[in-house]
Order: sequence, then structure tokens, then C-alpha cells
Amino acid sequence: AEEVGGGDKEVVREYFNSTGFERWRKIYGDTDEVNRVQKDIRLGHAKTVENTMLMLTEDRSLAGVTVCDAGCGTGLLSIPLAKEGAIVSASDISAAMVAEAEMKAKAQLPPENLPKFEVNDLESLSGKYDTVVCLDVLIHYPQNKADGMIAHLASLAEKRVILSFAPKTFYYDILKRIGELFPGPSKATRAYLHSEADVERALRKVGWKISKRGLTTTQFYFSRLIEAVPM
Ligand code: SAM
Repeated sequence: AEEVGGGDKEVVREYFNSTGFERWRKIYGDTDEVNRVQKDIRLGHAKTVENTMLMLTEDRSLAGVTVCDAGCGTGLLSIPLAKEGAIVSASDISAAMVAEAEMKAKAQLPPENLPKFEVNDLESLSGKYDTVVCLDVLIHYPQNKADGMIAHLASLAEKRVILSFAPKTFYYDILKRIGELFPGPSKATRAYLHSEADVERALRKVGWKISKRGLTTTQFYFSRLIEAVPM
């Protein structure tokens, strides 16, 4: 695949500070200003968040656990994490998204539980966290970029990494092809699918193995959820 020196990332940043911000703020919100497809995606995404919270809480408490929410969007995961007592670092490449997430968090959480918000692309994050979570971000990057992103996220995590991505299955591949026949107005809305084997290989290369798997599908939303732990 072609490599245009960080080009993808600039396009994605610009998109999520403008039309993409408006589109996703609606989808991730709770008002009626969404169409049928957007409502379906809202539902599917809510299930991914729910499944992530289950993975994170089913065998231990989140109280005092440090969690990095990379590509936090409007804070739909960061806020429930903080409610469970996690010490959350939430970041996103889009300043508009971070501002929205921060506003929502302040309305719902006491000051002492607020996540630490930061405008940053995940490749530039540093530090160490018990858990690193990155939901529905890889869809914006081809696998040749995703490998490095996965490796970097794993390097920030001590105990576990949770990732979700649009799986490259036969069925979804077809849907995507249909989508390509009718391209949207913005190139930036392009979705990249990832095969589970590719993601697993990228993790294994840096010493991590998949320990749990989940899948969320609705009519228009497909997301594979995986938890990885050090080998
Ligand atoms: N993770 C959030 C959630 O599940 O609610 C948001 C998902 S949204 C589909 C994708 C988010 O990834 C956007 O907020 C976008 O700005 C962010 N993003 C895209 N590329 C990124 C990057 N390289 N580093 C950090 N955030 C990124």
C-alpha cells in the first residue's frame, strides 16, 4: 500500500475537527437528529462500550486502576470507566472531540474522578498504564499503519490492551465494496477493515497474545473486540 508521510493522520485529524466531529457527535449523542443508519451505528457502538466494560470488570474491580483511553472521542468509554473508579487518561487527535468529552465528563462526574484529558494522537502518547483501550480508531488506518499503532499502544500497557476494529470478514468485505461503489462526499470517511489474524500477528510480534474475544454486529455496525495480555 502507498505511504504518504503521515498523510492519513492529517486527513483524519482535519475530518474529526470538522464534518466528522459533527457527524459523530450526533451518532454518539442521545438526540433524535440521526437517521436510521446512524441510529443503528449508535446502538452497535453502545454494545461495544458495554462489552468493553464487561471485559474490564468481570474478574476484578477498576478502582484505582490506571486506564489510557486512546482516541477517546466524546468520552463514551472514559466516563463509565471513571464512574467505576478507574484513573483515566483520555486523549484524542481531535481537539473538538476532547472538548466535547471534557464537557460531558464535567456534567456527570465529581471533580476528583474526572479523567485527565489531552489532545494527542495515540502514536505520541507516553507513560505506563495498567490498561490501554482503543475503540473503533483503527478503522481509520490501513494495516501497514495499524501495526505500528498496535505496537505503540502495547508498549504503554502493563497488564492488558483492549482494541476494537472492523473485522475483514467475507460478509463485511462485500458490504464495504458496495460502499465503495457509492463513495461518500469525503474521502476521510473511508473505512479500513482489519483481519483478526493481522491484528493478532502485530500483537504477537511485540510479545502480546489475545486472551478474550468479542464481536458486536448490528445491521450497519461490525466491531471485533479483543483483549490482549503479555505472553
Ligand atoms: N473511541 C471512541 C469511542 O469508541 O467512543 C471514539 C471512536 S471514533 C469512531 C474514532 C476517534 O478516533 C475519533 O474521535 C478520532 O478523532 C480519533 N482518532 C483517529 N485517529 C487517531 C489517532 N491517530 N490518535 C488518536 N485519536 C485518533
